[in-house]
Amino acid sequence: MPSDPDLELRGRLIRSLGSLRDMLPGSFVERQRTCGRPNCHCADGKNLHAQYQISVLVEGKPKAFHVPAALVEQVRQQVQMRDRFDAAAATICGINLRRFLKQKEDL
Ligand SMILES: [Zn+2]
Repeated sequence: MPSDPDLELRGRLIRSLGSLRDMLPGSFVERQRTCGRPNCHCADGKNLHAQYQISVLVEGKPKAFHVPAALVEQVRQQVQMRDRFDAAAATICGINLRRFLKQKEDL
């Protein structure tokens, strides 16, 4: 059978989805804030504390969940996995739409 580049791409994308199993929803947010302690380095308003969150829609309502420093890199990657998953799904759907339209033409 001649190889179809669309089908090869679709197969490659489908096989890549397993590596995205740890994906997390929402967007990764970095905030800078002061802690309020007058003697802290942040009191000058310049050397602020970084605070990380993921903001997620839960049952249609926006929620923000704090990300502890120890999990920042992991969670950042897990949120990126969701973007890659969505991009793969969009590409697969585009391929399948083209195939559907072609299928109709050939009826
Ligand atoms: Zn502080």
